[in-house]
Amino acid sequence: MASDLVADVVVVGGGLAGHCAALAAAEVGAEVLILEKQPAVGGSTVLSGGYFAFAGTAEQAARGVIDSNELLFRDLRDVGEHRNDPALLQAYVDRHSTPTAG
Ligand SMILES: Cc1cc2nc3c(=O)[nH]c(=O)nc-3n(C[C@H](O)[C@H](O)[C@H](O)COP(=O)(O)OP(=O)(O)OC[C@H]3O[C@@H](n4cnc5c(N)ncnc54)[C@H](O)[C@@H]3O)c2cc1C
Repeated sequence: MASDLVADVVVVGGGLAGHCAALAAAEVGAEVLILEKQPAVGGSTVLSGGYFAFAGTAEQAARGVIDSNELLFRDLRDVGEHRNDPALLQAYVDRHSTPTAG
């Protein structure tokens, strides 16, 4: 299928990651094109339960829950049956968790 569409940024995949990338590019003025292979956007994102995995949050502390980035990393490795990428997981844990005495 030929197309003469032109954009500053082309995002392949219209799930959460693609939409975040597209939004970030649009926010700095880029004209963005999202390409989605399915008839509708959403991907597995629309199936998500909407839960977030964090460690050392204020909510946990208020309830006396002892947690740490190390426990979160181990838990997510187990949930992913150790098929997940440890480097990516570590980046997630480092970036999204609150530093704790652990
Ligand atoms: C049942 C279920 C429950 C879940 N619950 C949770 C939860 O509670 N908490 C949580 O954090 N995570 C949850 N997840 C995981 C989470 O939904 C995914 O990790 C996340 O949505 C992935 O987002 P994504 O943008 O990377 O991929 P996707 O949302 O899958 O988007 C990828 C998109 O790219 C498209 N695509 C792929 N290849 C091409 C191509 N060549 N050309 C064009 N388009 C293409 C796909 O069709 C799709 O639309 C759950 C997943 C499932 C399946």
